[in-house]
Amino acid sequence: MKYVAGVDIGNATTEVAVARIEGKDIEFLASGIGPTTGIKGTLQNINGVFMSLKNALNKLGFEYSDLDEIRINEAAPVIGDVAMETISETIITESTVIGHNPGTPGGIGIGVGTSVLVTELSKLREKQDVIVVVPSSVDFQTAARMMNAVGDNITITGAIVQTDDGTLINNRLDKKIPIIDEVLMIEKVPLGMECAIEVAPVGSIVSVLSNPYGIATLFNLTSEETKRVVPIARSLIGTRSGVVIKTPEGDVKERSIKAGSINIIGLKKEVEVDVDEGAAKIMDAVASVIDIDDIRGETGTNAGNMLDKVRRVMARLTEKHPKDIKIQDLLAVDTFNPQKVKGGIADEFSLENAVGIAAMVKSDRLQMEMIAQVLSEKLQVPVYVGGVEADMAIKGALTTPGTNIPLAIVDMGAGSTDASIINREGKVKLIHLAGAGNMVSMLIQSELGLEDFELAEAIKKYPLALVESLFHIRHEDGTAQFFDKPLDASVFAKVVLVKDNGELIPLDGIDSMEKVKSIRVNAKKKVFVTNAVRSLSKVSPTGNPKDIQFVVMVGGSALDFEVPNLVTDALSRYDIVAGRGNIRGCEGPRNAVATGLAMACVEEDE
Ligand code: ADP
Ligand code: MG
Repeated sequence: MKYVAGVDIGNATTEVAVARIEGKDIEFLASGIGPTTGIKGTLQNINGVFMSLKNALNKLGFEYSDLDEIRINEAAPVIGDVAMETISETIITESTVIGHNPGTPGGIGIGVGTSVLVTELSKLREKQDVIVVVPSSVDFQTAARMMNAVGDNITITGAIVQTDDGTLINNRLDKKIPIIDEVLMIEKVPLGMECAIEVAPVGSIVSVLSNPYGIATLFNLTSEETKRVVPIARSLIGTRSGVVIKTPEGDVKERSIKAGSINIIGLKKEVEVDVDEGAAKIMDAVASVIDIDDIRGETGTNAGNMLDKVRRVMARLTEKHPKDIKIQDLLAVDTFNPQKVKGGIADEFSLENAVGIAAMVKSDRLQMEMIAQVLSEKLQVPVYVGGVEADMAIKGALTTPGTNIPLAIVDMGAGSTDASIINREGKVKLIHLAGAGNMVSMLIQSELGLEDFELAEAIKKYPLALVESLFHIRHEDGTAQFFDKPLDASVFAKVVLVKDNGELIPLDGIDSMEKVKSIRVNAKKKVFVTNAVRSLSKVSPTGNPKDIQFVVMVGGSALDFEVPNLVTDALSRYDIVAGRGNIRGCEGPRNAVATGLAMACVEEDE
């Protein structure tokens, strides 16, 4: 008889299964779970292994020394967090632009004129239309007085104000004008330049400045110039107010960095693809190379920089030379990311089309042997590298009640989506692909322009609702829920996340539930539907997913409230029956690899 532990070091989670083995019989005693420390496949993982092992052993009152053997997985690290980056071309603009949603813009309408500092108004002699610029050093009363005092030669058509006093100023003006306030970096507004501002009525959005032809009309632009204001117009879509300032050519300089190309290098052929062509073309190229040896990006471009970064990070953590780090798979998805507008003066963003990329580094058995050796020394228990994840995962998945061979599994974790298939003869075929839960969260984070990854994780995990009154919320599926006691005022009129325990988390600064929902669902489809089909095609005996009948989904992302449905739905088109696993009849979709690793100890004894 012996006690064994299977330890699965994942990108996000380190899972443990402890079992007693008696001859050919295995009895599972406890499971453990904890966060993975450091990037998967590096020595930093050791602490996480200790914690997860302890978590399982504590449930049994065991010490490390009670174990006779530990098996860890052979892990292919996916650098989700540093590898996922949106790649797009940086755009040059020759205009300065402000587009934002101040709480209290004053007035309504459009104003066009020359930008003039409020304190300089009295010095103007020539007849002209002006947009007044009011820095915070001038209070609203003084500003209004100065503006009311201008001569007949001057027509004030609008104002840009640094403080939030737009309404206060307008209330004191003899003639009401559109006013944009809360422009923090007002010192960046160039003076003496032609300038247009627009303030939309409450509840609506700007319509002239968000239209390239609208801007062209206001400034008499040529068609060439109109092309260049497209990013400006796009950055103003959906805002309540905006400013466009025409600066002399060359005033705002910006180096443009090309998106670049990606080279997929196989043992027999090499394929090059331009990132600008989009995710579908990139994925076609990746699929066209059967045995990928390495993937490289064009030097000096966004693509090159990103893939180099992956190499450098892995090289540093594993004390190798970057050129010895090989990238084995890559998932590209179309996304858009809010890009800082060059020459902007209020931190404006424009939504640029981009490609998000997750890259997976080749697994390195030596690295895992090193982890095993250090663990062995520290625990005084023999530790072995016990097999490839997807192989172990299928062993574990087969403990799901109702399953039998032939069977395929899709293990949806944080960094990678792994698939394996076992045929009637017990032969296993497997594949590890880049991109999983982390990438979904990163897409959500970048598309919504969130600073916080944790918030993106929460948006991924919990459904949405809109707090319509203090006594009821409207769930994203349209149903209303009523409360006996008033809700906290802090969530009123906000889009919120509904946690499992009913707690409401307000999403500040987000006003459209539909937009968040659509970004969330699409991110999940782009990553998991793509990768499920991609991975199953690779393990299918014929290369066509149609030739697979049953699929069990495992891994943390199979806990998602909609991912399994999205995948099941997509796979049903290939006549595949797919469902969420329930490891050992009690673990849900978790612990498959750890369970498989522990089971592998039995077979070797035979
Ligand atoms: P790994 O094997 O790579 O460590 P796991 O199998 O532990 O990954 O899965 C981790 C992933 O599962 C993370 O991306 C996490 O956000 C996701 N996840 C965990 N719980 C949930 C949940 N309830 N809903 C959606 N996703 C979840
Ligand atoms: Mg895993």
